[in-house]
Amino acid sequence: EADLREAVQKQQFLLHYQPQVVGLGRITGVEALVRWQHPQRGMVSPAEFIPLAEESSLILALGQWVLETACLQLTAWADQPALCHLSVSVNVSARQFNQPDFATSVLDVLQRTGARANRLKLELTESLLVNDMAGVVAKMSHLKAQGISFSLDDFGTGYSSLSYLKQLPLDQLKIDQSFVCDVLTDPNDASIARMVIALGRSMGLEVIAEGVETQAQHDFLLAEGCHAFQGYLFGRPMPCDAFEQRSG
Ligand code: C2E
Ligand code: MG
Ligand code: MG
Repeated sequence: EADLREAVQKQQFLLHYQPQVVGLGRITGVEALVRWQHPQRGMVSPAEFIPLAEESSLILALGQWVLETACLQLTAWADQPALCHLSVSVNVSARQFNQPDFATSVLDVLQRTGARANRLKLELTESLLVNDMAGVVAKMSHLKAQGISFSLDDFGTGYSSLSYLKQLPLDQLKIDQSFVCDVLTDPNDASIARMVIALGRSMGLEVIAEGVETQAQHDFLLAEGCHAFQGYLFGRPMPCDAFEQRSG
């Protein structure tokens, strides 16, 4: 935790970008995924340090940095014909979202960086929804009115109450990679994936499958009516310049 605190001060973080595609592979956006370049340990994965950051208040400073960096990236891409259509998805921790000034601070970042709100997508998780539904809905609606969109990450892995789904002004559901992983071999995972796709369709939400690694998984999900995908099959999370070289 002391290392992490220092890392926030010394800006040892960077963002990697993973392509998000539709249909057969047309890139429509990226997910920003934070990496910690530790001076001794090398690249540390967020699975290791995000939970730690969430226990302390460090997630607030880190989350703010991620949002600003992602928005600066959007602004940089806005002038480039090959990249200006891309959206950037940013993961938001429950703790961060629950800050009373969260909505204001997001809008401040947009204004400061000049990023277009309709290119920014915020990924929320079910852990956010444990209490104060009305407060969550109000915050989301406020940001949505400015053009920001919302995706529900890790859908189905947490406190899955379907009653919240109808209240939230969401744009997208993410089929969690734990379901995608065995979608071809485990009939239960296949059923869950189908259920999310059907739910999304009937509620008018886009559905994106994450963790798509093989052509067979892609084919299956496409045939079931899923239109958006993210996973190693289409590209690993990569530094900004590698992504630009690939897409520009
Ligand atoms: P997530 O938001 O569900 O992100 C998807 C994770 O799946 C990423 O792990 C990504 O690298 C990985 N992934 C993508 N495609 C594949 C695939 O085809 N196969 C497999 N096996 N994995 C794939 P990563 O980058 O290690 O991030 C882990 C988690 O850390 C994220 O899960 C997210 O919850 C959290 N995280 C990452 N960046 C941020 C951030 O800036 N803020 C917050 N609050 N959390 C973040
Ligand atoms: Mg995510
Ligand atoms: Mg996820």
